[in-house]
Amino acid sequence: MTYLTDRDMLKEQQSLPNREITGLDSVLRATMEAPFNAYMLIGDEDETLTQALLFSACLKCQFGGCLTCNICKLILAKDHPDVVVFERSGPTLSAQDARQVVTLSKRSPKSGKFQILIIPEAHLMNEANPILLKTIEEPPPTTIFFLLATHVEAKMDTLRSRCILVKIRKKAVSESKYVDTVLKILHYLDGTVTGVDSAVTSYFACIEENIDLVKLSQQSQMDEFKNSIQMQGKGNTTLLKLFDDQQKREIRKFKNDVQKNIMVTLQHIIADQTKEQIDNLGSNSMDVAGKFEIIKSINRYIKNLERNPNDALQVTSLFIELSELLN
Ligand SMILES: [Zn+2]
Repeated sequence: MTYLTDRDMLKEQQSLPNREITGLDSVLRATMEAPFNAYMLIGDEDETLTQALLFSACLKCQFGGCLTCNICKLILAKDHPDVVVFERSGPTLSAQDARQVVTLSKRSPKSGKFQILIIPEAHLMNEANPILLKTIEEPPPTTIFFLLATHVEAKMDTLRSRCILVKIRKKAVSESKYVDTVLKILHYLDGTVTGVDSAVTSYFACIEENIDLVKLSQQSQMDEFKNSIQMQGKGNTTLLKLFDDQQKREIRKFKNDVQKNIMVTLQHIIADQTKEQIDNLGSNSMDVAGKFEIIKSINRYIKNLERNPNDALQVTSLFIELSELLN
């Protein structure tokens, strides 16, 4: 197992503005500064491929993975010369396919320091296994392998032990999951002080509940990560620290995202209710300007989140304002 450390690349990347790619798995992100030469991604076929491509974009893009520049677009379209998604010739990865992969792995990158070789459905390899194994054990220093598999079979054990194993989970955060919380908050905002208190409590309870779920999944990711680097015989504390910091940043970002999603849901529900009232009763029957003020106040709150996340005082003052405007 080679550990590809490149100080120049590290320096170059640290100065880049956009190091956080939306949706890139935290293990992959943590190893970004000093990539391993072989990853095995376990999970849904599309999801693992997306992760491998996002990782490649992050590595090759001069902005650290902006997803909008030409390089990023080519990578995501599977059309970049240094990011190859290997297409096997038959139903399984044959010995001939494997030899082709080995040849490809010996090429130098057309630009930058690395080329990335992605092999989908790596669980479908039999006779190819020993040929690939040798290359992955002693890989060309400028090639990074991504083996994608929906599951690990016993026949893959040796191959797997040469890779960093990353389990890719499907992300499932939808805005609609906050509707119940928002309706509860609106119910509490009845113009009374105790109502505002209850609304604030519901708001933070919802955030904490969601964060607990993320923390649980992070804990298992951390355990897997520790096992994985132990299997490589590397008790690398720097890497663990990096991973830990990464998880903390993720929690902070997630907390902000949950707050934003609750607030946007709140805006949508208020806007829908207003529209319904206007349809039924006409715009003269109610204070449309007041409802508009509410939407604007929530907007201000969302904007402030970036600077001052999770501020109980701000939520309280927003809810007091809403409570007055709604009643
Ligand atoms: Zn880019």
